[in-house]
Amino acid sequence: MTDQAFVTIKNAAKSFGKLQVLRDINLSVERGQIVAIIGPSGSGKSTLLRAINELDPLTSGEVWLEYVQINKTLPHRQHEAHVNQVRQNIGMVFQHFNLFPHLTVRGNITLAPRMLKGLSEADANKLAEEQLAKVGLTEKIDEHPSRLSGGQKQRVAIARALAMKPKVMLFDEATSALDHELVEEVNLVMKQLAEEHMTMIIVTHEMDFAASVCDRVLFMDQGVVVEEGPPAVIFQNPKEERTRNFLRKHL
Ligand code: ADP
Ligand code: MG
Repeated sequence: MTDQAFVTIKNAAKSFGKLQVLRDINLSVERGQIVAIIGPSGSGKSTLLRAINELDPLTSGEVWLEYVQINKTLPHRQHEAHVNQVRQNIGMVFQHFNLFPHLTVRGNITLAPRMLKGLSEADANKLAEEQLAKVGLTEKIDEHPSRLSGGQKQRVAIARALAMKPKVMLFDEATSALDHELVEEVNLVMKQLAEEHMTMIIVTHEMDFAASVCDRVLFMDQGVVVEEGPPAVIFQNPKEERTRNFLRKHL
């Protein structure tokens, strides 16, 4: 097992009915590494991220976090308990924030630590305050999400994910729904996480951000990883024609 990376995806395939969306994907992410996934719409980026935490279980292949196989075959009830357990280690941030609208910021952040980890109200509150301070939103703790800007909502979503002390963070186009002027405040939070050596897998359309923050870039197209490498190689000297075509339109 010692040769295994922190997050490992082996021979991943995924079909929705007859539509094959992922084909033989292999990915290894070391602890503290930051990997960007780029590629055209519909190439399978979200499906791959969602496979990591079993939101879209693979049709075949394996997903591992450290020494635990996330998608192991288990009887239904055991599987549910297993998935709930492993998901606690995986923070996910979506394009559309997915905050609970009826809860305050505090309620959003404390819910999972209280329900899933059994934290006391006082401990959960302390945690919420710590995480909000990290994303620079201490003063919004008693607001409802509807009173926040998109950038603030996304920073709360990140704080909420971090409150579970995840081993890895997954970002699915976290800034795509934001007005241009709000993108940077979210990018800054992600850069700060990078400096703290959080392991991250980041699906993004922002090539400059990927180039500045990520250790490795994967280019996906039509359900396969066409090419991967350090940002300097993928962005400046890609080998594959498909990568060059994509980057011509997006750089
Ligand atoms: P990307 O994130 O790269 O834009 P997705 O992973 O969302 O791509 O989608 C890849 C393909 O899978 C697309 O053709 C999409 O329509 C299809 N797809 C995604 N989710 C589902 C689903 N739940 N049911 C059926 N098809 C899906
Ligand atoms: Mg997507």
